[in-house]
Amino acid sequence: MKTLNTLEGGSIQYVFADIDDTITHHGKLPAASYEMLWKLQAAGIEVVPVTGRPAGWCDMIARFWPVRGVIGENGAFYFSYADKKMKRHWIFSSEERQINKKKLALIEKDVLKNVPGAAVSADQFCREFDLAIDFCEDVPPLKSEDIEQIVSIFEDHGAHAKVSSIHVNGWFGDYDKLSMCKNFCKNELGFNIDNNQKIVSFCGDSPNDEPMFGYFKNSVGVANVKEFEKKMKRLPKFICEGKGALGFVEFGAHLLKNRA
Ligand SMILES: [Mg+2]
Repeated sequence: MKTLNTLEGGSIQYVFADIDDTITHHGKLPAASYEMLWKLQAAGIEVVPVTGRPAGWCDMIARFWPVRGVIGENGAFYFSYADKKMKRHWIFSSEERQINKKKLALIEKDVLKNVPGAAVSADQFCREFDLAIDFCEDVPPLKSEDIEQIVSIFEDHGAHAKVSSIHVNGWFGDYDKLSMCKNFCKNELGFNIDNNQKIVSFCGDSPNDEPMFGYFKNSVGVANVKEFEKKMKRLPKFICEGKGALGFVEFGAHLLKNRA
């Protein structure tokens, strides 16, 4: 990983960025991060958060934050809001979503029956595509064997499962953050991202962001990514000095400086 100051970045027009522990810091959105989103927008650099957070949260982000759009639930959809109109692009129709919700309800039953101490996440009611099982946000932390068992239950039902720092998220369908990023660029920004790497960048913090780190030529990690370095096959090309939101603000300031 090269240091951030070696990133030229003068032609970057779009920034895709993870939210938790990248834009946020210890579960909060610091004023400096929020201010940086406004500064980037004012300079003509458009930000698109890419997150595992649920549809309900993303609705608010698309409306309230100074962003071009938001990709949520690990790539299941994007929302963009402009001229008093909310545009919602879903990976599946509402009929397919209803079918998948029924299948996820069976997994939920199985997990709660077989893994004592696990709970459905507090933000589940905001979700449209995945089932999030809490193993340490609002419940006492579970052991790693219990977490692995939750993952196995999802997989036995034919679902994908991904472990974050607080939840196991599981869903049906072959999509991820990167595939929806490519859709967003094609549908909303009017370019094929494969041939336009110079104008885009991605900033993230953890193994969940590996596909994005690997694909984007201008991929940037905030410093906390170093904690996962040994577990990751694909690392960001550039690294910030600051962790979490401090890193995001450092990255934004670097882009603004190079643009001037
Ligand atoms: Mg994160």
